[in-house]
Amino acid sequence: MDYHATTPVDPRVVEAMMPYFTERFGNAASRSHVFGWEAAEAVEQARDEVAQLIGAAAAEIVFTSGATESNNLAIKGAVAGGARKRRPHVVTCATEHKSVLEVCRRLERHGVADLTVLPVDGTGRLVAEQVGEALRGDTVLVTIMLANNEIGVLQPLAEIGAITRQHGCLLHTDATQAAGRFPVDVDGLGVDLLSLSAHKVYGPKGVGALYVRRRRPRIDLLPLQDGGDQERGVRAGTINVPGVVGFGAACRIAGEELQQEPARLSRLRDRLENGILSGLAGVTVNGHQAHRLPNNSNLSFGGVEGESLLISLPEIALSSGSACSSTTSSPSHVLKAMGLDNDAAIASLRFGLGRWTSVEQVDFAIEKVVAAVTKLRRNSPSWAAMRSVRRGHERLETKELA
Ligand code: PMP
Repeated sequence: MDYHATTPVDPRVVEAMMPYFTERFGNAASRSHVFGWEAAEAVEQARDEVAQLIGAAAAEIVFTSGATESNNLAIKGAVAGGARKRRPHVVTCATEHKSVLEVCRRLERHGVADLTVLPVDGTGRLVAEQVGEALRGDTVLVTIMLANNEIGVLQPLAEIGAITRQHGCLLHTDATQAAGRFPVDVDGLGVDLLSLSAHKVYGPKGVGALYVRRRRPRIDLLPLQDGGDQERGVRAGTINVPGVVGFGAACRIAGEELQQEPARLSRLRDRLENGILSGLAGVTVNGHQAHRLPNNSNLSFGGVEGESLLISLPEIALSSGSACSSTTSSPSHVLKAMGLDNDAAIASLRFGLGRWTSVEQVDFAIEKVVAAVTKLRRNSPSWAAMRSVRRGHERLETKELA
């Protein structure tokens, strides 16, 4: 139930990767022999497969170590590379992943950039016009995620893209959770930079990509790493050939499965949500109900101690938020940005379904969650008090009606 944190590598992906560890082990930058040529050919095929998943050209894909690096390269690279301003302005949003928010905040702290962090509404969505209102003459970059990793909410990227295009600043999106979950097209969205990660699409960990638009406009990124001229000098360092090959295969398979998989996942998600909601009162679905990922459900449980909730569900792989934040027990910044208080934010569970989630697993999760929450509430004095007050009201209302 935690496919937002990571996904298992698809066996078809492992199979594609295997030869590149052993007999085809060449360095893709070796130009003088067949080992290098084979590796380079495989990398270029993978570049094409990754590009196709997002409607890009192969030459617009830069391989990285994952979405964290892609986000850093996009934001730091665009601010330092393209900006001719002394202290350029960047716009982002309060519910972004830490690998975007913390990058922006660091640039602000170090006096490199001015920052505007836009709020979201109670459903976790931005209104595109808010972005327009935040833009200034010195705005160089807007960075807004496509799909949120905790609440699955989709932001109105195409509308934002039309606004940034007209204004003449760059638009970056973190599409880590979106790609392979629904069709993504860089031109349709009007984005200039887009981050991806292989391990969220049934590929290996430690590989990712940044889409960098090459025409209208051509983007001048300052590299984070200098060294060799790999990746056209934008990202120096020997390419992880097996990882990249796996990423390519994962993107090809995800693209092929886009026809059926989102509908299957949303049916499973609805089954999970309906099962829990019909088994328990006092449960709130967090995030916009329509504009969200097909595989996500984020629920808050009234009347339970947040810390006890996860501990009482040891048989299910679940989290209360981003894996990147789960080493700290502070409440989710995403749920807080939507207006939830600390207690409600902690008493929340993030469900993320995926390629191998079955009906049986969903039914098992429903049963365990309903049982665990019921038991926790039985032991919670505040919930018991609230229930008896509510029952009292119900009795009064019935009397009045009679
Ligand atoms: N952005 C989002 C939305 C994510 O969900 C994640 C992974 N938790 C990342 C970025 C970071 O990706 P990676 O693990 O590839 O660095």
